[in-house]
Amino acid sequence: MFIVADENTYEAAGKSTEIILKNSNILFNTLILKGEVLPDAKTIGTILIHINNTKAKSDIFAFSPLPDFILAVGSGTINDCCRLVSYRLGIPYGVVGTAPSMDGYFSAGSPILFDNSKATIQCSTPKLVLADLDIMGNAPYEMLMAGIGDMLGKYTGILDWQLSNTFNGEYYCEKIAGDVLLATDNCLNNAHLILNRNHHGIDILMKGFMVTGLGMAFIGNSRPASGSEHIIAHAWELLEICSGDSLTLHGLLVLQAARLVCSIFRILMFESDDKALVNLISQFIHRFDAIESFCNKNNFINPITDKNKILKGVYDALDLRDRYTVLYYLKQRNLLDEYIKKAADDIA
Ligand SMILES: [Zn+2]
Repeated sequence: MFIVADENTYEAAGKSTEIILKNSNILFNTLILKGEVLPDAKTIGTILIHINNTKAKSDIFAFSPLPDFILAVGSGTINDCCRLVSYRLGIPYGVVGTAPSMDGYFSAGSPILFDNSKATIQCSTPKLVLADLDIMGNAPYEMLMAGIGDMLGKYTGILDWQLSNTFNGEYYCEKIAGDVLLATDNCLNNAHLILNRNHHGIDILMKGFMVTGLGMAFIGNSRPASGSEHIIAHAWELLEICSGDSLTLHGLLVLQAARLVCSIFRILMFESDDKALVNLISQFIHRFDAIESFCNKNNFINPITDKNKILKGVYDALDLRDRYTVLYYLKQRNLLDEYIKKAADDIA
């Protein structure tokens, strides 16, 4: 078995994983990635180089040069990179979670930085996801906020999916969308338990990620988990990387982007004379209100404060991914500039 962790996740769960494996007489080799770990070619290359013991003699008659299983110890980046390596090499992988900070545990796709952009590469789902509620509950507070934020982005994501179904003829699955909405409601209604590190709350959040991840696997794309809010969040993340800023947690960017997209929908609901659109939005308004009261109650501060950066991220999002969302709806009607500026003012 090949274990991949970073310095923090090794402390949080890697050491205890090694003890369990040792006691079970399972052979393993551990790679601890140093410093800030990005989901990029450098990390993937490092994993590939160390995937077998680099100091062992490569006697192909004596042992297989590849492990039988890759075990990611961590959350977002480590899981995404191990998933890609596992898929490319045809080796099964699993993950020991260290924080309920994002919904990618159960996903079949890995968002990777390459060719000066970020795109999700289709891989396969993990064979197992281990989430020890003590370890997950010990994650830093902002990672718990990020986990809830990633789930709250499902409201705008599902509405974008419905929009694409109505105006673009894209396939929409009512059952999966309904399950994701229910799981998101459950996270929102129990946010206080999650933020208080209560086991039941952490369990609800992880189950929310599971419902979303399995939904993506069934549909074969990320519609159940992400819409315009995720594409905008990815665009902001790319801007942070380009300017050398320290990276904001994915779920926190998603939450800010979801507030922005909610604001676009709100304004559209009052100003648009497109009945089909207004009807769709009206069914989500109570959920948008709930996001705002969650943010206010928990003093959530939008991580991106520079208005130019906020706007640039939205325009970049249109080029980042060819997916029909409210941004496309507005662009097709020459309303994009007007509505984005209004919404950015609204959340500033
Ligand atoms: Zn996400």
